[in-house]
Amino acid sequence: MPQETRTSPAQAAIPSVDRILRDPACDVLVVRFGRRPVTEAVRGDVAALRGRLAEGGREAAEVGAIVARVAAALERAAQPSLRPVWNLTGTVLHTNLGRAPLPPEAIEAVVAVAGGASNLEYDLATGKRGDRDVHLDDLVCRLTGAEAATVVNNNAAAVLLTLNTLAQRKEVLVSRGELIEIGGAFRIPDIMARAGAKLHEVGTTNRTHEKDFLDSITPRTALVMKVHASNYEISGFTKSVPERELAAIAHGAGLPFAVDLGSGTLVDLAQYGLPHEPTAAETIASGADIVTFSGDKLLGGPQAGLIAGRADLIARIRKNPMKRAMRCDKMTIAALAAVLRLYDDPDRLAERVPTLRLLARPRAEIEAAAQRLLPAMRAAAGEGFAVGVAPCRSQIGSGSLPAERLDSAALVLRPAAARGAGTALVRLAAAFRALPVPVIGRVQDDAFRLDLRCLEPEGEAAFAAQLPALALRP
Ligand SMILES: *Cc1c(COP(=O)(O)O)cnc(C)c1O
Repeated sequence: MPQETRTSPAQAAIPSVDRILRDPACDVLVVRFGRRPVTEAVRGDVAALRGRLAEGGREAAEVGAIVARVAAALERAAQPSLRPVWNLTGTVLHTNLGRAPLPPEAIEAVVAVAGGASNLEYDLATGKRGDRDVHLDDLVCRLTGAEAATVVNNNAAAVLLTLNTLAQRKEVLVSRGELIEIGGAFRIPDIMARAGAKLHEVGTTNRTHEKDFLDSITPRTALVMKVHASNYEISGFTKSVPERELAAIAHGAGLPFAVDLGSGTLVDLAQYGLPHEPTAAETIASGADIVTFSGDKLLGGPQAGLIAGRADLIARIRKNPMKRAMRCDKMTIAALAAVLRLYDDPDRLAERVPTLRLLARPRAEIEAAAQRLLPAMRAAAGEGFAVGVAPCRSQIGSGSLPAERLDSAALVLRPAAARGAGTALVRLAAAFRALPVPVIGRVQDDAFRLDLRCLEPEGEAAFAAQLPALALRP
């Protein structure tokens, strides 16, 4: 080994890597993280320390300090990239924050199949190969009134697979007012192109009539489609063709009629004080041959795309080789089946499906939670911020009922000084994101706002307990 040419006394005082590794505190780290990661972390810390001392740093090279730094570094590195956060943005079904929280029944179902073998595609009665769709088929049919159903990884896949199966190299009629883009890269025209289907736009952006559809049908037409406008609303001088009429037009020409519901709730949301959304069952009853909808929007389950409808069309969709590339895994199927089973008991649905429970939470209850947390928040925020409780409006999110706002309550943190308020808010939001369980809020109207709709009473203690860790520099 080449000799170091100049070693300062401070550098010479650095304990050897072996000496550090023999420290009892390191044994604890080895048990937790493994010998190699600990050795590498110690080497890294010693090298960095040597560098700092070479540049004139004056810190003491003590084993205790080194081990403490190594422990902190290993702890940071062990944090998974994907981890829980508090969604206090005011958007309940937040795509970037994982959409629907699962009920315990679904989590238990995942755990039950995740660690071992299951009858995913195995018929226990005959001992022969089975079909993974059987675990969901009956449940979906019962809840939608469809003849058959299949499930893929998300609704985008459900739409793609439906179009590719029913309309490859053919035309699909869609109203111009429904050629939507949903957050990210899901645009109906693009999906249509990728599915190999040709989009035939019908009518105008704000008005589409029955005659527009009738005039557009040619021998090249394979499908009539309606897309739920999800994240926007056309108001004013508008006209669209109701599902029942569209179904009649399609069937009159011997064509199937597909509806992409997007959110696709399974129950009438009006019973929870929310506006009515067309349910999958209503859509099937009005004549849709296929409906597609998400598992993790209003349904409140895992990410999935449900396709329900006529048995002959579902059979064709299942046979499409693309289905193999989009099929759900056992954990999704287990979770979705457990959530769908909760719908068998409509009376307790709003208690048991977290998404519905959060959406139905009354403002007074959220406001009471905000008042309970106010003292802890004031103490954590310190002098730099005025903290209060204010009414706010939550959104459902994920393109569901976009115009609808739910009365809610927020903790509001406003910089005490007008000067530098913008920077203070940016730093405040970052400090909340840096908490052990990051807190995601929203900066709006010169204040940092935490809509407490999605912080349920069971979570309050854990939420408050980490607030003192907010490292707010004045
Ligand atoms: C959300 C949505 C989709 C996409 O569903 P994912 O489950 O996010 O893939 C497709 N169509 C409509 C109308 C939607 O609202």
